[in-house]
Amino acid sequence: MTRPGPPVGRAARGTGSLLVDNIGELVTNVADGDGPLGLRRDAALLVEDGQVVWTGPARDAPAADRRIDAEGGAVLPGFVDSHAHLVFAGDRAAEFAARMAGQPYTGGGIRTTVGATRAATDDELRATVRRLRGEAMRQGTTTLEIKSGYGLTVADEARSLRIAAEVSEDTTFLGAHVVPTEYADRPDDYVGLVCGPMLAAAAPYARWIDVFCERGAFDVDHARAILACGQAVGLGARVHANQLGPGPGVRLGVELGAASVDHCTHLTDADVDALASTSVDWTSGAVTTTVATLLPGAEFSTRSPYPDARRLLDAGVTVALATDCNPGSSYTSSMPFCVALAVREMRMTPAEAVWAATAGGARALRRDDVGVLRPGARADLMILDAPSHLHLAYRPGVPLIRRVLHHGVPQ
Ligand SMILES: [Zn+2]
Repeated sequence: MTRPGPPVGRAARGTGSLLVDNIGELVTNVADGDGPLGLRRDAALLVEDGQVVWTGPARDAPAADRRIDAEGGAVLPGFVDSHAHLVFAGDRAAEFAARMAGQPYTGGGIRTTVGATRAATDDELRATVRRLRGEAMRQGTTTLEIKSGYGLTVADEARSLRIAAEVSEDTTFLGAHVVPTEYADRPDDYVGLVCGPMLAAAAPYARWIDVFCERGAFDVDHARAILACGQAVGLGARVHANQLGPGPGVRLGVELGAASVDHCTHLTDADVDALASTSVDWTSGAVTTTVATLLPGAEFSTRSPYPDARRLLDAGVTVALATDCNPGSSYTSSMPFCVALAVREMRMTPAEAVWAATAGGARALRRDDVGVLRPGARADLMILDAPSHLHLAYRPGVPLIRRVLHHGVPQ
């Protein structure tokens, strides 16, 4: 699969070596450390040319041109938020207030955002994307997938992805978000548009294709056709599946070898079995794993029951956590908030939640250069104002991210 070039703002190369030392707890996500997070204590980490080149005991740390003192804080890989919708205009605060007053969430509000997005200028959309990208970065997110899906015309989907690609390597064509109002009585025609001219215009700016496979959005036949068209031009598949009720989306994702099926709130035993059957050892090189990406911000913001993370984990399914940042059903860019929700509301252990928000997200994007801190990985990391990763869930809502390095450069 091809990967788009580096986003604008990427660090300049050749800035010398940088040592991060006095690390109280280093989360590596490398199996030879302690536990699933590969914890090391009293550690140091050396960065050169935007990459990690060494990790080890602080007493063995090599000399470097520059130094950052972690002051005994924990250092973790940057969060990998593998599911976000950042290209939009307007907000839906009134819809949120109505929902909190008792109105159910139906997904229909997406069309409100589509109208506002179509009416916005490129610069207005760009400003929103960059504002949210910065917001996420300050909360430790160094890799951020961005979807289109609020344009739903050929030109508006293409420009959404063009703007997203300015700040992200992982951009996703979501022309199949909902059927826009002007196609309401002829969904087959809209699917033809998505698979034809819209895909052709979007594909140069996209790495992935996604579809909202749900009652009220796209049925399984339409979803299969759309994902297959995208795969035929080299895009990887992802699916919005089983959010609002049971359905065929998860099994469709597994059938097509999707990198991830996202939401997974309403699952049958057959869905869990299908996901578990794909969860082979990543280190074997198999790329057929379909990750279950859980988006607890959506359940929080729609006051809905949370996905059963324990059932998935106990079945051996690879689980990721992501924000689903969007103006309707989950307007948060905060991965620490999602980690806290996963621990408190979904009974994940703090270690499982941190892994899912870092290494799990990387697997959901089929990347091995992020979500891990080992020689050769991208030097994307965060330094906490706390001695341990446990504090991310233990101290919810507290700004614990003291520093973020992206491509080895302090942000
Ligand atoms: Zn979504």
